[in-house]
Amino acid sequence: TFEPLASDFYAYENQLTDVEKESIAELRAWLEADVAPVVNDYWERAEFPMQVIEPLARLGVLSHGWEETRRFENSAVFRGFVALELARVDAGVATFVGVQNGLATGSIAVCGSAEQRAEWIPKLASGEIIGAFGLTEPLSGSDSAQGLRTIATRDGDDWILNGEKRWIGNATFSDITIIWAKDADDGQVMGFIVPTSTPGYSATKIERKISLRTVQNADITLTDVRVPESHRLQNANSFKDTAKVLRLTRAEVAWAAVGTSIGAYEAAVRYATDRVQFGKPIASHQLVQDLLVKCLGNITASIGMVVRVSEMLDRGEQRDEHSALAKAYATSRMRETVAWSREALGGNGIVLDFDAARFFADAEALYSYEGTREMNTLIVGRSVTGKAAFV
Ligand code: FAD
Repeated sequence: TFEPLASDFYAYENQLTDVEKESIAELRAWLEADVAPVVNDYWERAEFPMQVIEPLARLGVLSHGWEETRRFENSAVFRGFVALELARVDAGVATFVGVQNGLATGSIAVCGSAEQRAEWIPKLASGEIIGAFGLTEPLSGSDSAQGLRTIATRDGDDWILNGEKRWIGNATFSDITIIWAKDADDGQVMGFIVPTSTPGYSATKIERKISLRTVQNADITLTDVRVPESHRLQNANSFKDTAKVLRLTRAEVAWAAVGTSIGAYEAAVRYATDRVQFGKPIASHQLVQDLLVKCLGNITASIGMVVRVSEMLDRGEQRDEHSALAKAYATSRMRETVAWSREALGGNGIVLDFDAARFFADAEALYSYEGTREMNTLIVGRSVTGKAAFV
């Protein structure tokens, strides 16, 4: 049964329907029982806990967003709370879902034809196949709207892809990767559904990360990778279409940032209640309470923002600058919150056993991916001034 989350201080969850609340309760119970106890070990070994994929699919987490697969009608606010719950236990699992659902399935949902949706979404939503999203390149990150070097050349009924990608999440084990490339003829950005078994496609894991260690990021090389026209996303005709996908996923990252903040904050509250110094639990020292309340203030302000951004999506009012502001703001508040939370654990804040250290480290990747704080700020800046500072 559903219990309100104490760290949702103003009880935004109250606006969920009963069915949505039950679904959250089920997800939370599974995360606490099966994911929380093992995730620090996977993090240390830099492995993804592959056993989570089947339960994530069974609990509907991979299918809630799509009309063809969802089990019950649900709101963007509910799906945001799902991202929050995942990240509250582990930002790595939340990122896996963000890539599978938001970036990979989302690209097909937003930019695919009806036939492409029908062919691919059910397989991705059931976890039968895993997806990845390849936009970033070794030489093009923040400037990927203009700077992509991966080229697609038309050859009869096929396309030939050549180029390199970097940082691609889930790509060491994905069955398909959405590859964004420029048309050799007119330079417009297009998206392709590339089965990873295609000759000429190779992915190598990026090692030695200090953040989101469970997420498997890869460098990808594409050498004369041949895909049929039927694998070109039929409604992706320029980077503006890619941006439609990113608008949705940035809002989800903002939600995951709130979840990551809550995970760290709850670890700090638990620790402060148990740990005794100067003869009493550190939670009773004024400056420790100040740390905790500053965290709660950040979390509460950020939840208000992400709830509103998702309501705007449900009403068809959400624009790029709305999700960009939420992503930049929530990840900035997260960075303060995980640092204050870790601080409240003293030395134990830097060892994995007490969880705060993992949230602290993982926050850095959320802060930089799906558009850095600077790039999301410039998207908002363009909106408020009418002047683009980044072209
Ligand atoms: P750069 O673009 O080189 O930027 C470096 C710094 O310069 C940043 O601080 C940036 O804000 C700043 N900067 C650049 N231009 C400007 C400007 N005009 N004004 C002010 N500041 C500027 N990509 C995918 O395609 N798929 C994925 O699945 C994926 N997953 C990721 C997972 C992780 C863990 C990480 C770390 C990254 C992932 N990325 C993925 C890539 C991610 O989106 C990029 O790292 C991000 O867009 C930043 O690009 P960059 O790293 O090349 O940094």
